[in-house]
Amino acid sequence: MKHAIAPHWLNFIDGAWVDGERALTVDNPATAEPVATIALAGIEDAERVLDAARHCADSGWLSACRPAQRVQWLLRIAAEIRTLTDEGAWVLCQENGKALRDARDEFVEAARYFEYYAGIADKVEGISVPLGNGYVDFTSYEPMGVSVQIVPWNFPVSICARSLAPALAAGNAVVVKSPELSPLGLCVLFRAIERAGLPRGAANLLCGLGSEVGAHLVSSPKTDQIVFTGSVPTGQAILAAAAQWATPSVMELGGKSAAVVFPDADREQLLASVKSGIFFNAGQVCSAMSRLLVHRDIHDEIVAAVAEMAGALVSGAGEDDPDHTPLISHGQLERVQAMCNEAIAEGAEAIIGGDRQGDRTGHFMQPTVFAGVRPQMKIAKEEVFGPVLAVIPFDTEEEAVEIANGTAFGLVAGVFTQDINRALRLTRRLRAGQVFVNEWYAGGIETPFGGVGLSGFGREKGQEALYSYVRTKNVAIRVRQD
Ligand code: NAD
Repeated sequence: MKHAIAPHWLNFIDGAWVDGERALTVDNPATAEPVATIALAGIEDAERVLDAARHCADSGWLSACRPAQRVQWLLRIAAEIRTLTDEGAWVLCQENGKALRDARDEFVEAARYFEYYAGIADKVEGISVPLGNGYVDFTSYEPMGVSVQIVPWNFPVSICARSLAPALAAGNAVVVKSPELSPLGLCVLFRAIERAGLPRGAANLLCGLGSEVGAHLVSSPKTDQIVFTGSVPTGQAILAAAAQWATPSVMELGGKSAAVVFPDADREQLLASVKSGIFFNAGQVCSAMSRLLVHRDIHDEIVAAVAEMAGALVSGAGEDDPDHTPLISHGQLERVQAMCNEAIAEGAEAIIGGDRQGDRTGHFMQPTVFAGVRPQMKIAKEEVFGPVLAVIPFDTEEEAVEIANGTAFGLVAGVFTQDINRALRLTRRLRAGQVFVNEWYAGGIETPFGGVGLSGFGREKGQEALYSYVRTKNVAIRVRQD
């Protein structure tokens, strides 16, 4: 359903909506027309927000209360998100270009994160360590304090909730830096947080330039933890800044994930997985299936079937819920097209696509399938972050593992086979934080997620993620025996 979109949006600092001296215009990727403006935070706002979060953290409003109180806050946030889902989905679809159903799914997923971590917020229990009669020793988990969370534009609402919910569950005060290209959906998410009545300064939202406000937040000694989701170069710059104060960090970076397909793969499962794996959200997914390694015996058959599926995808603006939507910006479209041109120059064959959709005003890239790709080519090694699949043939299981593991990334991987022994062998051998068998994107908010190598470190999602937001304290007590 259509909703009116306010012409100007604000930042949420210390429990209040705050305007700025500057503003940023947010465009609709399907039309390149402006959707709205948002207050652009500066360094002063960044300092204000850090002080507000610090005050909240030091006051113990979140951390010293009975944990059952945090459970109630998180459940209230989830309920408020559900009431705002229709409106939020419309805003997110307009500013981000994604399909309306996917924008809606982001809000539903965000609500699920808050419900899920509400379920664990009062179960963060330490252990008692036996040291003989002379001592009592126990550990407890304390919140980090001020958690600064830098969010990317591809799934802003669900990625924000993914880190914000466990951070609040553990009793941290949070500063979220929203992505410049798609900040408005997060304002709707924070309206839900405002309505839930959390203490002032517990959750704050700033839209600022990454190179200015983002860089300031991550290099501040007031920041106790950094949670970054985004590209490798930005992650590297943030790690360098974090080194100055030895600030603990969680890094969720990019990927170049491969699916390995054997001749006995179920064709229907495989095609459905390729469709969502590389064309969902126009391929702007960190865990996209950007490489398809296919056994040579079935290579031509699979390439033809995938190209047919890609050719039948219907493109359009997100509000019409098409199969295929635009890229986020003109800059991303130029980048993706340049990578396709390089692939062609290196000898890859565009079976379908390879160019922008010239008949459209928005930032539309054709669904693209490259065959004849060799593992050394750039298109086989670097993240494209668009609807571009690189198909690479292999002859043996050994060779498939070598190619799959042959990039600097290691976010996810997949195996398509009916042979349980082969599947289990590969789940161990593939270098990735998560391995899918016979369904790309299997798993959910309950399953730990994160990378190895240039894909980053630390885990989000699942129970394990909660322990990214606490630090262990040990208390060792001498007991007199007389
Ligand atoms: P990006 O690195 O350009 O920006 C991410 C965020 O970092 C933005 O909010 C930006 O403003 C901020 N930023 C930029 N420079 C900064 C600096 N010096 N200090 C602090 N913050 C700074 O990434 P993007 O283009 O928004 O997102 C796409 C990338 O994100 C892809 O590489 C994708 O793979 C990755 N990603 C990873 C995951 C994951 O969970 N592993 C999820 C989604 C996206």
